[in-house]
Amino acid sequence: MKKYDAIVIGAGNGGLFSALSLQKNGKKVLLLEKNRQPGGISTSFKKGRFEFDVNEQMLSNYGNLSHPGELYQLFEKFHLNEKVKTIACHDVFHLHVKDTQENFIFPKGQEAFIEQMEKYVPGSKEAMVTFFGLCEDVREAISHYPKEKPSDMDIFYQTYPNFVELAPYKVIPVLEKIHLPKKAIQILSSFWVFFGSFIEDISFIHFALLVDSYVTYGLEMLEYTSYDLSTLIAHEFLALGGEIRYSSCVDEILTSDQKVTGVKVGNEEFSAPYVVADISPAVVYGKMILKENVPSSSCQLSNERILGAREFRVFLGLNQSLEFAPMVHVIVPTLNQKVLHKNQNSIFPDVLMGVVKNNHDSSSILELGGYFFQDRFDRIVKKENYYALKEELASMMIDLWESVTHLSIKPFIEEIAIATPVTFARYTNHPDGTTYGYLAKGYDNLLPRLFTKDKERKISGLYFCGSFGNFLSGFSATYFSGSEVAKEILEEKE
Ligand SMILES: Cc1cc2nc3c(=O)[nH]c(=O)nc-3n(C[C@H](O)[C@H](O)[C@H](O)COP(=O)(O)OP(=O)(O)OC[C@H]3O[C@@H](n4cnc5c(N)ncnc54)[C@H](O)[C@@H]3O)c2cc1C
Repeated sequence: MKKYDAIVIGAGNGGLFSALSLQKNGKKVLLLEKNRQPGGISTSFKKGRFEFDVNEQMLSNYGNLSHPGELYQLFEKFHLNEKVKTIACHDVFHLHVKDTQENFIFPKGQEAFIEQMEKYVPGSKEAMVTFFGLCEDVREAISHYPKEKPSDMDIFYQTYPNFVELAPYKVIPVLEKIHLPKKAIQILSSFWVFFGSFIEDISFIHFALLVDSYVTYGLEMLEYTSYDLSTLIAHEFLALGGEIRYSSCVDEILTSDQKVTGVKVGNEEFSAPYVVADISPAVVYGKMILKENVPSSSCQLSNERILGAREFRVFLGLNQSLEFAPMVHVIVPTLNQKVLHKNQNSIFPDVLMGVVKNNHDSSSILELGGYFFQDRFDRIVKKENYYALKEELASMMIDLWESVTHLSIKPFIEEIAIATPVTFARYTNHPDGTTYGYLAKGYDNLLPRLFTKDKERKISGLYFCGSFGNFLSGFSATYFSGSEVAKEILEEKE
């Protein structure tokens, strides 16, 4: 049986980064991926003359050499930035509101963002300045959290009183408390549904970190595709002596006395004291570990958590360039949050995300994404109606896009492809095809997950990363989760 220091299951963003980080620190790592290529959702496919990125290739928290975000700094440690080419998006976001036919476009940079909000909502400036001040407090506090020395906790509490006070709150109560006018609250909170959670459920701390990084560093779109980035990371891992086996679906995680001992792929066994899973805990505990070896509390926890959004995506190759590219557009039916989320699991296709990218040959790509929550998709899809339903939903999304943005696309469609939660389930093996890990909800939010992660580990040596890890979903979050898991393993080994 071949022996390794660590085995990583799944070459999505989280898996790739944990493998790379461990290997760079001198560990002998095996990365096992069931597909024939790295990247998981961070991949691309070709149709006609278009290469569609499954992931829209939008990097947040990245910035650039002169103004590096945290992701840029993480990549710098592995000398990746020199090989990553990005294009800065014009603006941070473009929000279209269907019922009032209003459009809100926000530039990057805190000052410009605040000025723009003041134009849309006169009298919002002071509260917006307070909001970004709180965002900075949160970022500062998180980066100084005394992980290694819990005894320093008292000093931490005294140094970051705003963080401590904000920690239990959700977004809206804090925005109300700082007297941000109602319209500004609605605008600021409507854009983020593509995080895969609802604004009423997200903690203020999580929101502050996300919005602050979007506004401060803007959005960078990869010049090539996220598949190229995934391949780059895989190559760096191989160059450091790591081993990747593609078309290798891990069937079993081997454990003994509540400790990981290795994995099984078909009839082949590999041994390691650490296994990092870039996959869902429900699959790990439900299918990959012998039932009698699964701690009941781990099983219970994975069943208690609610799966995040399931994505329905339409990829359009257009034979002409589009305005506002590269740019992320979000369409919402109304700014009224109560109406918007009255029936949380039936927002499809009223809330839509569109990403526009122009190609060098005057063609363009538009990707439209809609979201299903809970069992909404399962309830409408049947074996007999699957293909017809796909077309019907795609057509609804295209109509909605055209009617709200007034950007005509139908006459220019050269290629079209559609991915449903079924497509994502087949490609990733994630339950119900969710591509957003577990929903951040109530007390099961970013901060509690980070603080309780060690207590949650009942099988020694078994770690989770990626969108089911502790940093939740998204490009940066999943890379960071991989890197953090590697750090924890290295510290534990020492
Ligand atoms: C359509 C879409 C667009 C997005 N756009 C953006 C964006 O623009 N910006 C952004 O920040 N985020 C975006 N996201 C979110 C981001 O892409 C994801 O959070 C991230 O890519 C997920 O990475 P992951 O590490 O969780 O791995 P995943 O991509 O989920 O990959 C898991 C891997 O594990 C493998 N696997 C599963 N089971 C096994 C097994 N038994 N054995 C071996 N291998 C196995 C799978 O094949 C897969 O390769 C988007 C998500 C979607 C769905």
